[in-house]
Amino acid sequence: MDAKLFNSDPRDFAIEMVANGLVSADHLLMCALKYMSHDDVRDMLDCNELSPRFDDEEETCIDCGGTNIEEGTCTDCETKEWLDGWDDGEHDIDAMRSDIANNNLEVGDDERAEEYEHENIVRTSLTNGQFTQAKEQCERYGLDYADFHEDTDADDGEGPIVGLMNHP
Ligand SMILES: [Zn+2]
Repeated sequence: MDAKLFNSDPRDFAIEMVANGLVSADHLLMCALKYMSHDDVRDMLDCNELSPRFDDEEETCIDCGGTNIEEGTCTDCETKEWLDGWDDGEHDIDAMRSDIANNNLEVGDDERAEEYEHENIVRTSLTNGQFTQAKEQCERYGLDYADFHEDTDADDGEGPIVGLMNHP
């Protein structure tokens, strides 16, 4: 320990202790806060513009001005931006949006977004034996149900599921 620095510049001494790993910044913070009186702490915070009176400016979304915000853009704009990125005509954006609203899908989960690709949705329905639903989905998405089914007569749910065959 540098006794000379301790005498000449105790602040530098304290900061160097943290820099040298002799004490953690958290521990030094607690030492300082506990040593100071409440008045000292309030004054220190206020001098550094960290007191409540500097808190009047609420942070807002840089896109829409909304206040539902974590960083930069609000949750709504963040969701919209992510969904726009997947809105390529091949993904069920409505399903994604409603699953986000129901906390079944996380914004930014690109891996799971693939599950919302029209073809994957139909395949999942078929895997689950939801043939009527799969047919409806094909109609909605403009896909050919026959492409998904080896045996197009197997509407009763008995047919084998082979996934997407030679999709054009
Ligand atoms: Zn916003």
